[in-house]
Amino acid sequence: MQRLGIIFLFILFSGDIFSQSRKTENVVVVTLDGMRWQEIFGGVDAALLKDSVYNRNIKGLTEKFWSQDLAERRAKLFPFFWNVIAKQGQLYGNRNFDNKVDNANPYWFSYPGYNEIFTGYPDTGVNSNDKILNPNTNVLEFIQQQKGYKGKIAAFATWDVFPYILNAQRNGIYVNADNDSLKFNSPEFKLINDFQFLTTRPIGVRPDVITYLAAREYLKTYDPRILYIAFDETDDFAHGGMYDQYIGSAHAQDAMIADLWNTLQASPKYRNKTTLLITCDHGRGDKVKSNWKHHGSKIEDAHEIWVAVIGPDTNPIGEVKTPMQLYQKQIAATIAQLLGFTFKAEHPVADPVTTIYKN
Ligand SMILES: [Zn+2]
Repeated sequence: MQRLGIIFLFILFSGDIFSQSRKTENVVVVTLDGMRWQEIFGGVDAALLKDSVYNRNIKGLTEKFWSQDLAERRAKLFPFFWNVIAKQGQLYGNRNFDNKVDNANPYWFSYPGYNEIFTGYPDTGVNSNDKILNPNTNVLEFIQQQKGYKGKIAAFATWDVFPYILNAQRNGIYVNADNDSLKFNSPEFKLINDFQFLTTRPIGVRPDVITYLAAREYLKTYDPRILYIAFDETDDFAHGGMYDQYIGSAHAQDAMIADLWNTLQASPKYRNKTTLLITCDHGRGDKVKSNWKHHGSKIEDAHEIWVAVIGPDTNPIGEVKTPMQLYQKQIAATIAQLLGFTFKAEHPVADPVTTIYKN
């Protein structure tokens, strides 16, 4: 009896040691709407750069972002991705190495993509960008039920459909989207709130930088354990055929992500215990060059996406150059596993990407 007891204690104890090897206590997710893997891994596109139909600033864009050298070119556009994540984290989705990340949903537009990211379930019933409350349980509300997470999850989005995608009405997660008024009593929040109401709205919703600054202020003030930031400008400028603006927004988003990572690493509450995961909702066309503007199931390559991760449990293997097939639906369970949970819901949930959180 006594020996059995000791063995049992040993099992309990070793289980504890295993869970303690996981360092992630917080997860931050950032999405770049419709940002193509072609620019993430290849930098500015040579054909689109020279095309005056799409680029109204050929000289300026060439000076700032062009290089014959691929490594230099992509680092000019995405310096944080290539100088920091490529050295300390992981990048998936470079199809030139047969490293593939794809939508599992058959629609290749925004709401179905975000549903897939957060529910792990490419529900074919989710097939519209309309403001419809999502029936599927997402990983954020699943984690909110776990000990220590109540009131510790927040989302800041540029697009005003996010309160529906994440179904904030059902789960009470704080989702601040477009011109939602920031009901906080600090001068910083007051200033950001003034900005969002006074700014021009070039894409019809508040600019991404305001979404970012509101999220950063919330992070500093309320210490969320999961923070989601959803940028939008890249998609809108691409639909508008404005390659110079699309590239400018992509570059600004890289800078905001760098600022976010520096903010996290400067805080004792987040430093070396926070994983940052960056991805997109869908791709866009490329094989027919003019299709870079478009996405959706009629655009043959618009299901091609990418994922980047940096954090204390993520092996720093950089750009993954081995043949592989990942799907967007695996992200939800991966977010849960980073925090030590197995995401279960009333719908099927795809397996996590183990290489993101296991050494
Ligand atoms: Zn989109």
